[in-house]
Amino acid sequence: MDAIALIRFGARLQMLKSEVSISHDRLVRLYREVRGTSPTKGMLPFSADWYMTWRANLHASLFHAIYRFLLADAGCRRLEALVKAYDQYTSCCDESGTPPVLDLTRAWTLVRFVDGGVLGTEPCVECGVWFIKYPHDMRCTPRCVACHLPARAGKRSGSAHPRREKGASERHLATKAPNLG
Ligand SMILES: [Zn+2]
Repeated sequence: MDAIALIRFGARLQMLKSEVSISHDRLVRLYREVRGTSPTKGMLPFSADWYMTWRANLHASLFHAIYRFLLADAGCRRLEALVKAYDQYTSCCDESGTPPVLDLTRAWTLVRFVDGGVLGTEPCVECGVWFIKYPHDMRCTPRCVACHLPARAGKRSGSAHPRREKGASERHLATKAPNLG
């Protein structure tokens, strides 16, 4: 996986700097060549809480399940698994008629949070899908977002499929997760 491919996929400078061994100045030049604009400066303002709102959690859980599958069962290396999982995740969104919520850098940050123990994963007791949670959240019956969608779910996607049941596209998206043992 090279820097140009990562930039095309939407990687931000902070991600590029920790994933490819190219100097800062060269990365900035490459970024300008590929995207036509300068990269935004500063640290990423992402916190683990962002992945806990219901919609982000559903998308993050799906992405991470695909990522883990590619890493553990398909034998991909870390960065390759990340980019391939991101590609598959956006395809799943297309098929479900739901716009992607994660960009590549959000997906990368999620992987780092899980690897670092800031966030964890656990299988849902109802549907068996692995979902993103706080490691210190000790609820005895862990359930994923798709199994308890909030009442407002689906309101934003309502215009695309007016006759669909509320939250149907989100529920459909959740079924795309690969089965993990
Ligand atoms: Zn569930």
